[in-house]
This record gives sequence, C-alpha cells and structure tokens, in this order.
Amino acid sequence: MRSKIVAGNWKMNKTLSESKDLVKEIKKSIKGIKLENTRVIIAPTYVNLQKVSKSTKKSAIEVAAQNMHQADSGAFTGEISAEMLKSVGVGIVILGHSERREYFGETDALLAQKVDQALKNKLEIIFCFGEVLDDRKNENHFKVVESQIKNALFHLDASDWKYLVLAYEPVWAIGTGETASPEQAQEMHAFIRNLVASKYNSAIADNVSILYGGSVKPANAKEIFSKEDVDGGLIGGAALNADDFSALIEAI
Ligand code: PEP
Repeated sequence: MRSKIVAGNWKMNKTLSESKDLVKEIKKSIKGIKLENTRVIIAPTYVNLQKVSKSTKKSAIEVAAQNMHQADSGAFTGEISAEMLKSVGVGIVILGHSERREYFGETDALLAQKVDQALKNKLEIIFCFGEVLDDRKNENHFKVVESQIKNALFHLDASDWKYLVLAYEPVWAIGTGETASPEQAQEMHAFIRNLVASKYNSAIADNVSILYGGSVKPANAKEIFSKEDVDGGLIGGAALNADDFSALIEAI
C-alpha cells in the first residue's frame, strides 16, 4: 500500500536556531496525531541538515535535502554530494523542484543524472515536475508533465521505483496563493499513475505516492487530499509554521 506523505520544503528559510525551534514546535503539535501509514518529512537548508536530522531521530519526522549534485565528488564549488547527505543521516532528497529548474537551469537531462546518482547511493527521491501557466492555458499540461517524467525517470528499472515519490507541482500554483482545484489535481495525478502503469505495470503505479504541491494550506488541504490519487502534499509556505503544518498532517 502506498504511503500518505506530508513533506515540508523549507527552501532558503530558517537559521539554525529557528530550525531547531520549528522542529520542537512540530514535534509538539503532531504528538496527538495518529500517523497511520502517513509519513512526515521536512527539508531544511543544507547547513542545518545534520542538526535537524539529529533532533528528529526519536520522532516520526524524517529529514530530506532540497537538492544534491550529480557527481560523486570533485571540483564543484558550493555543491553537495549524495554521499555527504548520507553521512549526516539524510536518506531523502528533493529533485527537480521548479525553482531549481527555473533559477538554476536544471534540465530534464541533468535531473536524470541526479536521479541516477541518488539511486546509486540508495537515497529516496521526491521528484518534482509540473507545467507553467502558459502550458496550462494552451492545454499542453499533460504533454509537458509526460515529457518531464519520461525524460528524467523512464530509463529506470522497475526495481528503482520503490525509491521514488512523485510530486506534481503546477508552477503557476507555487507560492502564488493560486491552487489547482481538487479536480485538476486528481485529473493530473490519475494521468501520471496511468502513465507509470503503461510504462511499467499497475503494481508499481499503485504503489508510488504522488504528492500535490502548490499553495496547499489548512483551508484547502482536506479537499485536495481527499482525492483518490492524491497521496499528500509537498508544502512550501505553510510548512514554515508548526500549527499550519500539523493542520495539514491532520487533514490527511
Ligand atoms: C513548493 O515550493 O514546493 C510549494 C508547493 O510552495 P507553496 O506551498 O508555498 O506554494
């Protein structure tokens, strides 16, 4: 059975002491919540990964990195490797976030290399993709999502898919306050699941968690999360506040 997941991407927010405080608050506010088949993941900035990962050790919270480099090691100033992530207790990495694609020029081809590198190191991947507003307006959104998934993931073996979580994040809904309707999210998630089933098989498609991301907040989460093919959310803004984040976990 696939897991439900609420994952918070903290982006370039929170100093070390702010991160520690937020973890403390999240731990406190999720104490009373029954996490049946539900995973809670947070992705702080690189420099706080080790401390945050230590402070979540005895809790239900898992820690992810927001990115990583595709090479093993070497002269790549400012970059972080998969092995480094593992060495500080991190087992999950977010790849392909639209901000990485837009501001740092990450292409499908580069992301395919990052995916391979993460898998080589047995890191679980939250793989993000999604269309921009023009694609949606021109009704190209299915085509765009299909090519993003095919280009970065369809060279993988069936056995690799247990390391994958997919995150559909329409770019027009990220940090804009604009959310895809629950029906739009369901329609795309069902499309993605069918795509995976037709390339691999229905067991793999049924077992992969597909998250929705884009301005999810306590007020709209329940409706979005109630859709059959929506297995949770990748959360930006609302993950920076413990009450909001725990409300999203409660919603799922
Ligand atoms: C994101 O950046 O992945 C995201 C979904 O952000 P927000 O929730 O703020 O739209």
